Amino acid sequence: MVIVMKPGASDEQIQHVIDLVREFGLKDHPIYGTDRTVIACIGDKRAVDKGAIETAPMVERVVPILAPYKMASTEVKQTRTTIEIGPEKFPVGGNKVGLIAGPCAVESRDQLLRIADAVKDAGAIGLRGGAYKPRTSPYSFQGMQEEGLEILAEAGRNTGLAIVTEVVGVETVDVVAEHADVLQIGARNMQHYPLLEAVGKVGKPVLLKRGLSAQLEEFLLAAEYIINAGNEQVILCERGIRTYEKYVRNTLALAAVPELNERSHLPVVVDPSHGTGHAHLVPAMCRAAIAAGADALIIECHADPEHALSDGAQCLTPAVLSKLTGSLKRIAQAIGREL
Ligand code: PEP
Ligand code: MN
Repeated sequence: MVIVMKPGASDEQIQHVIDLVREFGLKDHPIYGTDRTVIACIGDKRAVDKGAIETAPMVERVVPILAPYKMASTEVKQTRTTIEIGPEKFPVGGNKVGLIAGPCAVESRDQLLRIADAVKDAGAIGLRGGAYKPRTSPYSFQGMQEEGLEILAEAGRNTGLAIVTEVVGVETVDVVAEHADVLQIGARNMQHYPLLEAVGKVGKPVLLKRGLSAQLEEFLLAAEYIINAGNEQVILCERGIRTYEKYVRNTLALAAVPELNERSHLPVVVDPSHGTGHAHLVPAMCRAAIAAGADALIIECHADPEHALSDGAQCLTPAVLSKLTGSLKRIAQAIGREL
């Protein structure tokens, strides 16, 4: 349930309600708005004396949260969440549409440092690149791992870009958090609950990708795991789902963007690279994603896609990425945003 305080409630009055909520065994999450404070309460409501809360000083009303995901829901928080990423605190989820780009995987120091400069020149705020790669085949390149993380961190120091990289297991959460600005949870791990809880204990933003066959409710419940573990900085990422269709690697479900925006206050990012699997489809899907209300795009980019160690077919070259940003800017402008 959500306890809505009247405008002007004092700190003591808010604390009194929080104490009451805790007495009933619920977990409290106060959200301090500009106008009023609401206190989201999570837990078993059966032991709660709703009347005692309703009659506490300066309580306006007590309303149930109907969505199964609570803290991620617009029922609890109506204002959009903006998450700042990287050393330069680029906002994701505000009026500005952000561009995150980079290779599927870190392949070498030279490759990554060069592409970092190129995506920065193209206007990116973030650099992506996997150091730990969740590959379908155990015989495929598995990533440069810790060495890759160090290269990413160096690229971050050189450029000021926010480093976005995937964490594939609980045991590597700390080392990834040490080197990266945003921890990516891959599609294959969306329902890896111990991993969600582990990144929930880290004080850095998490980019949560939608599972290959996950429904939006399951996706938002995965976000709820991270928030419930203590980390409210969750960025949702639509990256396409598995369907019977074969002309694309995945079917990019762009209607998920406005639907997620309606259900949740969390920023929504679109990955048109994994969402299509083909570089020639990526520019159009970037434009469509911004038009649909995406807060940022995460795009795979490689200087030599033909020789990429993973996902070359869906990588844009830096030249194509640079050229694309012109039309993306105009689309952002057309819907009252900036890029
Ligand atoms: C990736 O971002 O390179 C990746 C593996 O993505 P996904 O988890 O969406 O497949
Ligand atoms: Mn990839």
